[in-house]
Amino acid sequence: MAKVVGVILSERVVTGLVVDHKLERELRYFPDESGDDYALVEMPAEGIVGVLREQVKLAADGAQDIAAVGVGVPGLVRNGVVEEAPNLPQLKGVRIGEMLQQALRDEGITAPVTIINDADAFAAGIAATTGKLDAVVRVWTLGVGIGYGRYPATDGVWEGGHTVVTLDEKENYCGCGGRGHLEGIMGHRAMRLRFLDMEPEEVFEAAKKGDARCGEFKKLWHKALAAATASSIHLRGPGKFYLAGFNVRFVDMAMLNEYLHQMVKMSPLQSYSMEICTDLQETRVIGAAVSAHHAVAA
Ligand SMILES: [Zn+2]
Repeated sequence: MAKVVGVILSERVVTGLVVDHKLERELRYFPDESGDDYALVEMPAEGIVGVLREQVKLAADGAQDIAAVGVGVPGLVRNGVVEEAPNLPQLKGVRIGEMLQQALRDEGITAPVTIINDADAFAAGIAATTGKLDAVVRVWTLGVGIGYGRYPATDGVWEGGHTVVTLDEKENYCGCGGRGHLEGIMGHRAMRLRFLDMEPEEVFEAAKKGDARCGEFKKLWHKALAAATASSIHLRGPGKFYLAGFNVRFVDMAMLNEYLHQMVKMSPLQSYSMEICTDLQETRVIGAAVSAHHAVAA
């Protein structure tokens, strides 16, 4: 069985040794529970590569036969280069894959390094842990921003969170600055900008109690997700969509399915389904490892 190291680089570096789509032992975290949450944000790219090198070495635990290393990074990733990383801007334009591969060689680890988008790692992890490696898996993560991951990996760009879902000129709350985007309606940050006087929790609570403005927003929020999902179905075909992230608590599945039904009418495209799943770091780490292993085997 091939040994693969999976890494997720976000606020923390989370690392695991993966064998046959399962973790060999507990995940490693840097910084650990007692550490500074902003340690990575303030670190230059070289420092982050140094942390990755150390964490991969510790996860490998002396094994010299690591087949691949996969690193999931939030942002737009192409050919091992992070082209856009809103949370870790110092990584923009950095050839992090090459740098880490070089650094690992000094540790005696000669495995190829693959850099992928962390939402795609999540989709690959869902596919691997649910036994769906032969299917198309898509996942929306509803958090501060809106993530969109898909499996299997292919070349290209899919910034699904920035899917245009409205032509309303006033819709410009997206973190990227673009007009009419899904994230500009659904993202936690965007909701706080829209309702300056209410937290998103209060908005959905008020909608439940019959507040007209909040009720309208709840509909818009669900229509936006239905619209982006319908666009994905029309471009890539039907299949299974997963929903994760801390704001899945606002999802009204019946409302979402009703809007989706209104938006997807061609009968060959109607074999889609939506399901809420738990967002585990373990799933993302396994996904990063599985993606890297596929990239090497291909
Ligand atoms: Zn956007």
